[in-house]
Amino acid sequence: MSNQTVRQLAEVVKIPLDRLLEQLKEAGLKVNRPDDIVDEGEKNKLLAHLRKRHGKNDGVDSVDTPKRVILKHRKVSELKQTSISGKSTKSISIEVRKKKTYVKRSDELNPNAENKAVDIQTTDVTTVDAIGKKTNIETKSKSVVEKIDPVVDAEQQKKVLEKKKEDDKERLERERKQRLEASVERNAEKVRKIAAAKQQAATTTTTTEKKKPSYRNKAAEPKRNDKNTKSAVADKGRKGRGGKGKKGRLKGRAAVNPAIETKHQFEMPVAPTIKEVAIPESIIVSELAQKMSVKAAEVIKQLMKLGLMATINQSIDQETAVILVEEMGHKPVIQSDDDIEQEMLSQVVEVDGREHFSRAPIVTIMGHVDHGKTSLLDYIRKTRVAAGEAGGITQHIGAYQVKTDHGSVTFLDTPGHAAFTAMRARGAKITDVVIIVVAADDGVMPQTKEAVEHAKAAEVPIIIAINKIDKPEANPEKVMQELAIINVVPEEWGGDTQFLKISAKTGEGVNELIEALILQSEILELKAPIEGTASGLVVESRLEKGRGAVATILVQKGTLKKGDIILCGHEYGRLRAMFDETSTLIKEAGPCAPVEILGLSGTPNAGDEFLVVKNERTARELAEHREDKHKLSRHAAQQAAKLDEVFAKMAAGETSTLNLVIKTDVQGSLEALRESLVKLSTDEVDVKCVYGGVGGINEGDVNLALASGAILMGFNVRADSTSRKLIAEKDIDLHYYSVIYEAIDEVKRSINGMLAPDIQEKILGLAEVRDVFRSPKFGSIAGCMVIDGIVKRNLPIRVLRDNVVIYEGQLESLRRFKDDVNEVKMGMECGIGVKNYNDVKTGDQIEVFERIEVKREI
Ligand code: GDP
Repeated sequence: MSNQTVRQLAEVVKIPLDRLLEQLKEAGLKVNRPDDIVDEGEKNKLLAHLRKRHGKNDGVDSVDTPKRVILKHRKVSELKQTSISGKSTKSISIEVRKKKTYVKRSDELNPNAENKAVDIQTTDVTTVDAIGKKTNIETKSKSVVEKIDPVVDAEQQKKVLEKKKEDDKERLERERKQRLEASVERNAEKVRKIAAAKQQAATTTTTTEKKKPSYRNKAAEPKRNDKNTKSAVADKGRKGRGGKGKKGRLKGRAAVNPAIETKHQFEMPVAPTIKEVAIPESIIVSELAQKMSVKAAEVIKQLMKLGLMATINQSIDQETAVILVEEMGHKPVIQSDDDIEQEMLSQVVEVDGREHFSRAPIVTIMGHVDHGKTSLLDYIRKTRVAAGEAGGITQHIGAYQVKTDHGSVTFLDTPGHAAFTAMRARGAKITDVVIIVVAADDGVMPQTKEAVEHAKAAEVPIIIAINKIDKPEANPEKVMQELAIINVVPEEWGGDTQFLKISAKTGEGVNELIEALILQSEILELKAPIEGTASGLVVESRLEKGRGAVATILVQKGTLKKGDIILCGHEYGRLRAMFDETSTLIKEAGPCAPVEILGLSGTPNAGDEFLVVKNERTARELAEHREDKHKLSRHAAQQAAKLDEVFAKMAAGETSTLNLVIKTDVQGSLEALRESLVKLSTDEVDVKCVYGGVGGINEGDVNLALASGAILMGFNVRADSTSRKLIAEKDIDLHYYSVIYEAIDEVKRSINGMLAPDIQEKILGLAEVRDVFRSPKFGSIAGCMVIDGIVKRNLPIRVLRDNVVIYEGQLESLRRFKDDVNEVKMGMECGIGVKNYNDVKTGDQIEVFERIEVKREI
């Protein structure tokens, strides 16, 4: 940025030298030779001149005046809410208006600006006479500080934001002080009178002399440290106070000062209270109002002014909350949720500098139904855990540990994928290794594939147990081949997965399986500290009569002791009693030991973390904080993964992957759909199929979608009733399709930020077939109960069997008792005849839908 000659400048701006000289002349500058130096000021003048010539007169008169850039952004979108049942549809028009004003100043930052700002902070109110002067200084510094205002520059944006935060802090501090001063001023007269009276009585008494410094010191302390930045007036004032027998004016001041300082330091001013409002990552309107001690309606009103329509129970983001709090004259203190929790935790939990020792692997068993998961778990428990115990039978506690000469292995006794994904959905990574059981006489089945995909999605190593090798028809070779196809390749074939042949019935190979697990854990180098306070995860919990909340937990670090105070998700309590997997009362439990504990305030969720904390009060506070956070995250989750928002999020740089969970009616459509959807990936967004399977949408699919922030897609399949509830509760984005092209088109549109099609399908109602009658006139008539929404005549329908679409057609006849009706509402029985379809069976479901045209405003 050093000064250039005219010639150099001409080269830089790429215009002929002659023209530049001409322009310089026109601008009235004294630079008229090619080798003359053009300094910054002259460049600016030239620029101003050129702008003027081009009719852009703004900010030309003085290049030093601010250039204001106002960015306005208006986004209109429409939110469609169709209940899963299709019962009702709501259209909500959302208009988001954003306005940002950037002020750019071209002059350099005054190097003294910072100092001056500091000046103000440290120049406290010391004398009444000083007030006028101080206000002046502050105004001046205000203008200085403003020059540090944001500059529109992508690279500097972060810096600027930080700076802005600081500036805001300063500004608020300044405003606070101004208010204080105002109040001091108002009281000044009064104070002066009192002081004058005091002065008369106490100028020479030693007691007053002794007393004064005692509270004056407190107030003056910070100033002493900052002697250099202190205003001279303050110094004078202090001197005045110290030296008695000086001139009356000073004496007068000396007596006044402490009174004001006392006021300043120990009493609340008459001016409005400025609160420090802690703002977490998102905050509910009512709570924010409470923090500022104002009515929620007031907050809503202010939000409207900011262009945001919010309800009392709505959560608003941190940025908005900060602006709002400032608008309302309070001081926002930005807090991240983790900060709060970390801060609280740091007070109660020991700092982790403990020595780590190798620990047992924690293992989950998954696989297709009837392939022997339960048998394997039972075999291991009976032979390895309960052996030698009186009675031999153990109570089911959700997990148990097996000890061998080489080390221990902890098994989670919750077979099935649902438990695994449910835990994962809560963000818990409890499993170190997954065993996938495949029956040698059956081979790879849908749930085997599902298990593989779940384990891979969780990035947990897999060990394959080829079970039932005692059976004559066992064909382990076939299992290996089938698994290799889905990228689970045995070590002996050059892959990285351990395959073991076992029989859960005879016990053959089970020892080797456990050894393989220990080997795998050595590879993983699993380590944990044994010393110190315990922490870990909840495996399961239940309420038991006479025992209260019973939770099975797995210690991951440290040692858990009876009497410890435990914080467990949103629950807490003192550990009253602890049992191991053989129901033996124990006093201590180390890493990877599953134990059943009594004493919690309620039942925590599987996958919740537990911690030993120092005292019950903090445990309770933390539990409450988590509860709040949980509530908020539920609010936040509602804004998670939505197909409609992919583009907006991409544009905002928030997302670069679009995760999908796809369920289809047949394998063929799954392959086709998966392939074409993944192909839609662009440089900006990666379309990823987290899981694809055949059959209706079940709870596991929903949990997986939740865990991986995925969008659920049903192709000719529907969600079952349990998963429908979960989908509604967690507000997961679910899309049904019946044509592959539609699905592809919708994803494509969402990636490219295009509008939805004009024709959309809406599910109106669902009826369940309770009985089937024959009618000579209509063929098969399904005696139904409308279980959701409304069923109407002459609308298109789909017949679902096991949540898979088996037929699509038209509703021909709709009757209640003997009468033809036009519609039947939920909870009523009716007879439905489907045109050209006679294959209806009891238990089938009939879905009634309509195609609607979407009108939208742009
Ligand atoms: P899960 O549904 O995966 O838990 O399977 P189960 O453990 O309930 O086993 C299903 C059936 O397979 C049961 O009848 C078991 O007795 C049988 N089974 C399990 N493992 C073996 C095995 O290794 N050999 C034989 N022959 N049968 C087995």
